[in-house]
Amino acid sequence: MFTFVFQPKSMRFFLSLSRSSVLVVLLLLTGSWGFLVHRTINQLSIYELPGAMGPFFYKNMDYLVYQSPRPDLRRNTDMAEAPRHFIDLELYGNDIPTAWPDAAKRYGMDSLQKAGIVPYHILWMKQRLTAAFSGLDKDSILFYAADLGHYIADAMVPLHTTENYDGQLTNQKGLHSLWESMVPELEIVNYQLSSSHRAVYLKNPEKVIWKSVRAAAALVPDLLQKEREVSASFTTEQKYRVQMRNGKESRSYTTAFAKAYAARLGNTVNQQLLVATDLLADFWYTCWVDAGKPDLTAITGTFTEADQAQYQREIGLFSGNQLLPANLLQARSPKYQGGNGY
Ligand SMILES: [Zn+2]
Repeated sequence: MFTFVFQPKSMRFFLSLSRSSVLVVLLLLTGSWGFLVHRTINQLSIYELPGAMGPFFYKNMDYLVYQSPRPDLRRNTDMAEAPRHFIDLELYGNDIPTAWPDAAKRYGMDSLQKAGIVPYHILWMKQRLTAAFSGLDKDSILFYAADLGHYIADAMVPLHTTENYDGQLTNQKGLHSLWESMVPELEIVNYQLSSSHRAVYLKNPEKVIWKSVRAAAALVPDLLQKEREVSASFTTEQKYRVQMRNGKESRSYTTAFAKAYAARLGNTVNQQLLVATDLLADFWYTCWVDAGKPDLTAITGTFTEADQAQYQREIGLFSGNQLLPANLLQARSPKYQGGNGY
């Protein structure tokens, strides 16, 4: 069992050695959302931007989509990266300071790194993106816009908000990739990949991101319970696929189980994908407004009438949930298949 003890005086967590070592290994093994959903979210958010921003983002769609999984890969080389993708809310207790300086003061850096910092990191990325807009620095804008999309998407995955991130504390190990990768891979053709939302200015991004993270966390009990319900009609052999990996036995959910689980979940995964999409558009827009609404035409480059027509066409297809049938969902494009994009 992993144990955290909260010591009132120093307000520091104590982490058992077993958890810290297991955490590192599991974080390397458990991805986030999967490339398909990260790429989809970064693409769809572009269609929700206002006309003063849309052409620049649309023109750079390839980069924004292609690079969306980059922060996950960074975890392999940067030890500071992993905590930016999750937050174990239970470990913070009630009354979590929503601003980083207050949190750093209360918990200390070591504890924060161990318990995860995704909401704080999103707000940090927001500052960086705003600064990039202020300087009209094209490369930095794209870099931080793509990364911000990744972290916002991760924060909307319920299992990124809990200590029981892989169902490992409730004998449901493997649930993480089942929920965020297997289910959307199987079901995306049935998803609603459209939204009537258009980017709005966030007066208080800190409040919005914390509220959204809390809402994602509120979905955890239900997704655990539904796995138990579906399990009742599966034998162990029907539920799990056992494979040998590097000489070790590894167990994952079967496709049949994933389909049954997807049906039981209803539209929860789809809903969180869209929540992340809308939120990302709002964050991109808010950064741009906070930077003083810089004119992006100089860094957009040539935007021909044909570009404009295609951009408008795609916004229409997005609104009508027709991107996939029109073969315009970039994450499903053949150019992205068969590699991780790096
Ligand atoms: Zn991630």
